[in-house]
Amino acid sequence: MVARKCGSAACECAHGVVKHRAMILCKKVAGRSAATYVPKDLWEQVRDWNREHKRLKKVLKEMSEINEQIIRRHVQDKRHETAARRSLRLLPSA
Ligand SMILES: [Zn+2]
Repeated sequence: MVARKCGSAACECAHGVVKHRAMILCKKVAGRSAATYVPKDLWEQVRDWNREHKRLKKVLKEMSEINEQIIRRHVQDKRHETAARRSLRLLPSA
């Protein structure tokens, strides 16, 4: 949300009293920020999309952490398996 002047000379905001709020959607494109002005009748919709975007980002982060744990556990299991095989070979054969 940003404060904005409406451009009308008759409006109070022309005298420095900033009283209008505007919604701007910001994103980075190739290192430069790009903004999209959001019309007021889409504010609620855009807020919902933004909430959903944040939720999905959180889900993806959780998935990545779980995948990392699977890799770590896999490596550990392999190590334990190899160690167990080695110790079995060390047993004297009957
Ligand atoms: Zn105004």
